[in-house]
Amino acid sequence: MIYPIKVYDSSGKLTKSISSEDASSLYWGEVMYTRNALRHIEKEQAIVTCASCGKEFPRRSSTSKFCSVKCQGSAHQAYLRRQYREKVLATNDKAKIIDGNVRFKVDCYCGKTAYRKSPKAVHCSILCSRRAHSSKYAMKRKAKMATAKNSQ
Ligand SMILES: [Zn+2]
Ligand SMILES: [Zn+2]
Repeated sequence: MIYPIKVYDSSGKLTKSISSEDASSLYWGEVMYTRNALRHIEKEQAIVTCASCGKEFPRRSSTSKFCSVKCQGSAHQAYLRRQYREKVLATNDKAKIIDGNVRFKVDCYCGKTAYRKSPKAVHCSILCSRRAHSSKYAMKRKAKMATAKNSQ
C-alpha cells in the first residue's frame, strides 16, 4: 500500500497532492520501467565469449556470437574445413586426422608409410618422389634406346 503523497514548497505551502492510487501506479510504473530497461541492457550488453577466439566481448545483439567480422570469417572457414574433413574421412579410406589436420596415407615404394598433405601424394618424401621420377625417366630412356636398337 502506498500512502497519498503531498508535495510542499519551501515555504510550507501545499503545491501537489497525489492520491494513493496515483502514487501507486506512478511507483509501479517507474519500477516496471526500470526493470524492463535493466533487462534490456542486460540482454543487449551481456558479456559473451567469442565462439571463435574465446575473447570476452559485450555483444551488440542477442544473437551475436563473434567479437569481430574477422572471427566470424575464420569461424566460417573452420566450419568449411570441418565439412571437408568429414567428407574426406567418409569417402577416402586413406585419410586420417593427424594433429588436427587431414593427412593421406602413402605406401611409398621405398617401404615407408607416410602421411602426406595432398590426397594425390604417392611418395613418402620429396626425395623419394624425385628418385621415382628420375628412375621413370631412366626407364623411359632405356626403353627408347631398346626400341631404337630393335628398329636398327
Ligand atoms: Zn573473436
Ligand atoms: Zn619413400
